[in-house]
Amino acid sequence: MADARLPFTQVVRELPSTTPFVGPEAIERQRGFTFRARLGANESNFGVSPKALAAMREEAARACWYGDSENHDLRNALAARLGVQPEHICVGGGIDELLGILVRVLVAPGTPVVTSDGAYPTFNYHVNGYGGVLHKVPYRDDHEDLEGLLAKARELKPPLVYLSNPDNPMGNWHPAEAVREFIAALPEGTVLVLDEAYAEFGPDAAVPPFEPDDPRVVRMRTFSKVYGMAGQRIGHAVAHPEMITAFNKVRNHFGVNRIAQVGALAALEDEAFVREVLAEVQQGREDYARLAERLGFQALPSATNFVTIDVGGGKRARWLLQALQDERVFIRMPGVPPLDRCIRVTVGPPDERAIFAEVLEKLAARLPAEDEIRG
Ligand SMILES: *Cc1c(COP(=O)(O)O)cnc(C)c1O
Repeated sequence: MADARLPFTQVVRELPSTTPFVGPEAIERQRGFTFRARLGANESNFGVSPKALAAMREEAARACWYGDSENHDLRNALAARLGVQPEHICVGGGIDELLGILVRVLVAPGTPVVTSDGAYPTFNYHVNGYGGVLHKVPYRDDHEDLEGLLAKARELKPPLVYLSNPDNPMGNWHPAEAVREFIAALPEGTVLVLDEAYAEFGPDAAVPPFEPDDPRVVRMRTFSKVYGMAGQRIGHAVAHPEMITAFNKVRNHFGVNRIAQVGALAALEDEAFVREVLAEVQQGREDYARLAERLGFQALPSATNFVTIDVGGGKRARWLLQALQDERVFIRMPGVPPLDRCIRVTVGPPDERAIFAEVLEKLAARLPAEDEIRG
């Protein structure tokens, strides 16, 4: 029982004390070691652009000042890049923070919200935190099921539906045209949050054109993945100007740190660096696919900076995750059946891929059959 002197809201009182993610540092502290390869959180181990790094180093001397609360320069640069207006953009502390703001402006206690069973957990965490009621549609053929999501949206008329494209944790994608048709078919008063954390890694055919005056969609992008700035916490939402106005009513105006603002701007301009990362990731995806095939597993096609590998059963996947961790290799896996027959590995640089390959090969040789594993 909670201490009666702590006057929590009803929503908070009734929430279980769960954490959406146990981070690699927490695992390292528990285990008393450091990871040899950190391939679980889809961070970009190719690092940050040298130009962004130089800009951030220089800006560090001005850390005594708050950042620009309007994120003026970055919003203008992003608007020019995406072919929208600065009024269509809100910069925040990564997609994770922006998802929280979006839920806050659309979801009151008791409100239904639709997502897929096994989709990005941080979104669910925000919905629960504002008292919304999650309705989860199963994946179909390892894809978020557009028809199923649409049917659920028509039934419940929720203010918000979540879709990530390309998808985490399965790594695949829906064509832009299918996403556009999905948006067009949503019931009136339902907004799609299109989480595009991996947009840069996928084919152009996965990315719908920006139509920011359409009130039915909020798109989210991040500097955490291809730009290698996960620790800086910076991303942006692109939406109808009235949606951005709503974000501005409640967001933390000085929440984005000025070093991140400067770094993101420099990173955006260093297109050559992004191209290099994308080429490396492409190479790494192929490496993992060959490795999986050689070991008798199956790599799913990936439009992201990770590869999801079907290892033939949920118990086998958990066994491998644990055994990899014992070998100081950090990966993750999807949380729910039938997706949990897979492990999910970030594409790192060649030395980290080599460590993963060596350890996985060793473990594959003694991986039990699914029905031989207890638990
Ligand atoms: C990594 C990831 C995010 C987190 O983005 P941040 O900008 O670092 O908060 C959001 N959504 C998906 C699907 C992701 O994989």
